[in-house]
Amino acid sequence: MADISFRKVVKKFGEVGVVHDFSLEVTDREFIVFLGPSGCGKSTLLRMLAGLENITGGEIAIGGRVVNDLTPRERDIAMVFQNYALYPHMSVYGNIAFGLKRMKIAKAEIDKRVHAAAATLGLEPFLQRKSTALSGGQQQRVAIARAIVKTPGVFLFDEPLSNLDAKLRNHMRVEIARLHQRLNTTTVYVTHDQLEAMTLADRIVLLRDGVIQQVGTPREIFERPLTQFVAAFIGTPA
Ligand code: ADP
Ligand code: MG
Repeated sequence: MADISFRKVVKKFGEVGVVHDFSLEVTDREFIVFLGPSGCGKSTLLRMLAGLENITGGEIAIGGRVVNDLTPRERDIAMVFQNYALYPHMSVYGNIAFGLKRMKIAKAEIDKRVHAAAATLGLEPFLQRKSTALSGGQQQRVAIARAIVKTPGVFLFDEPLSNLDAKLRNHMRVEIARLHQRLNTTTVYVTHDQLEAMTLADRIVLLRDGVIQQVGTPREIFERPLTQFVAAFIGTPA
């Protein structure tokens, strides 16, 4: 089970609070979207869940296990970043296999998993190329393949489509929705884009200045925004 609990999570950078008493229960296999304007704390929340940022207060549990003191690798997660964060000196194959090598998985098994992930994302023709020789869209596919190959319980996406052109963005959005269905994972997806949130989410968590404004299905948020801020951000008349 890969349910997630945020319990009164607080984040401060020095004296400045950027996440305030954030509590949320995410159900196993849910697709949850953190939506809000730039600077509202979306990435900070995701990075705390991933173990890339310390938690100032409260706790986070994944699959019933409190993860506050666990390293990223000890958590049942894989993350896809906006800037792809690939290893430029490695081949596509090397990039996808990298995390598995560190997990001390047998070579034949690694090979099998890399080819399966590459096939899923249409990357088989590119496996021996340097990742820097690929287009932005292809690099983003490599980043996603590198995440799915670990077969995590939880997928984290931080604005994964922001650097792609509109056409590719639409295409990848559909692919991410399909992957979520097919891989039976829990997905936490960060974006400032209402359309992405509305089309992908089971539930949207709308944030402003590190405080939850509303949690609901896309339809609930669209039809019954609780505040002016939510209405303005989603683009519905309050
Ligand atoms: P979002 O992803 O929603 O755009 P972030 O989580 O990146 O927002 O940032 C939330 C707030 O925390 C912003 O005001 C940002 O400037 C601040 N912040 C983020 N990272 C740091 C850091 N390492 N040091 C100080 N302030 C930070
Ligand atoms: Mg961000």
